[in-house]
Amino acid sequence: MPELPEVETVRRGLEPVLTGRVITRADVRRAGLRWPFPPRMAERLTGARVERLRRRSKYILADLDRGETLLIHLGMSGRMLISGNSLGKFHHHHPAPEKHDHVVLDIDNGARITFNDARRFGAMDLFPGGDDTAHPLIAKLGPEPLGNAFNEAYLAEALAGKTTPIKAALLDQRIVAGLGNIYVCEVLSRAGISPKRKAGRISAARAGALVPIIRTVLREAIEAGGSSLRDYRQADGELGYFQHAFRVYDREGEPCPTPGCVGTIRRVVQSGRSSFYCPRCQR
Ligand SMILES: [Zn+2]
Repeated sequence: MPELPEVETVRRGLEPVLTGRVITRADVRRAGLRWPFPPRMAERLTGARVERLRRRSKYILADLDRGETLLIHLGMSGRMLISGNSLGKFHHHHPAPEKHDHVVLDIDNGARITFNDARRFGAMDLFPGGDDTAHPLIAKLGPEPLGNAFNEAYLAEALAGKTTPIKAALLDQRIVAGLGNIYVCEVLSRAGISPKRKAGRISAARAGALVPIIRTVLREAIEAGGSSLRDYRQADGELGYFQHAFRVYDREGEPCPTPGCVGTIRRVVQSGRSSFYCPRCQR
């Protein structure tokens, strides 16, 4: 499932193709994905110019010159495929639509962007621009982890008194937006905090120290995504997924990577999701 860094990588991949460009044709090939598409979506997109391509949490937001914002959510398996003019050169080559190609956007620079989503948990929606909180998926989100509103004092206060495990607290999108299972496991490994520890039992100093760790983990992953984008630009291709080396995620039974620690990575299930951690150095 794409997490914030993957979504940011997709946004950065789409930016040179979409920003300032006009959607000349929108082919909406089904009535919806996770939810129905908005009424007349193809009509509302056709002829619109993309003024800005932003990201909020795991949502890509395209501000259109007609006063609407296009929201794109990749869901579990959503992918953005760019064909044609993805290199700044015109290829005039588009693959034939495949089974899970649900929305196809032709751009006035010759590029074609195809939203492919095999599991159909993705979403596309249009809402009035200018106020992101006008959209129900965005309205209740907490601060962006890479933004200024997310800081040491904020997080210490948000966690104070919480009886839920820190793992669940960091996954709570009202506390911080966009963190998912994989990166929370990585963050807690670096912080030396057990995913099972009650959030309110973490000192304000340790809670605050999570902020720079969260930022570093996300920035490193975005940087890795940027490297994959440079590779991708070698050819027309697909945006959305890239390989990472995770410290603890999916490494059950392997030695703990923390220098000097002789522990073994353990997997526990919390709220239906796997947590990977080292019981020796994460307390
Ligand atoms: Zn360890």
